[in-house]
Amino acid sequence: MDLPDDLDLPLERGEPYWYWLGGRPALDFVNTLRERWWRRVETLVTPGDLARWLVAAGVADAPPPAGPADVERARALREAIDAAVVETVAGRDVPAACAEAIDGALRRAPLREAVALEPSGALALTTGRDGPPVDRALAAVAADAAAMLGAAERGRVRICASETCSARFFDRSPAGARRWCSMRLCGNVAKARRHRRRHRAAAGRTPSDPRSST
Ligand SMILES: [Zn+2]
Repeated sequence: MDLPDDLDLPLERGEPYWYWLGGRPALDFVNTLRERWWRRVETLVTPGDLARWLVAAGVADAPPPAGPADVERARALREAIDAAVVETVAGRDVPAACAEAIDGALRRAPLREAVALEPSGALALTTGRDGPPVDRALAAVAADAAAMLGAAERGRVRICASETCSARFFDRSPAGARRWCSMRLCGNVAKARRHRRRHRAAAGRTPSDPRSST
């Protein structure tokens, strides 16, 4: 998942650079900081970016009112989730500070049950979140992160195997052996690289072969 080399950084707005290979909101959220292995390109740039991302990710119905402080808070939550992802992928415990950050996001918009009387005379029990809309949406992302990093699901959290890709994704393949964020984008590049390496190794016996210099 490469961005153009000549990108004007920092970005003025991030929306054109979002991608959705994470397989769930918590990882698509983490992937809004692109090229973590190199330039760390921020794509949650403005409050408008954050509001539209939350809608695009399906955790808000309409762009929630948001300000610069919300962007800061969202980025902090994102980095806490990512730190937990990195440790989890490495087979280590989730750091306590990450758990606290995720818990903090949930506390800002706690779940609440409500009951309403329907026209039929029956009661309808619903569950929703209290708090400002932007906090409710971020809490939904935090809840997804908490579920993902739980004992049942954490074994499926992955970081793309490509050396030049920092995409995080959730492996839903039956065998649980997915290595790349996208077979089309990273898997094929890796295959081509291996093929070239083998080709070079074979060509190594004839160093005068001009193809071996590529
Ligand atoms: Zn990748």
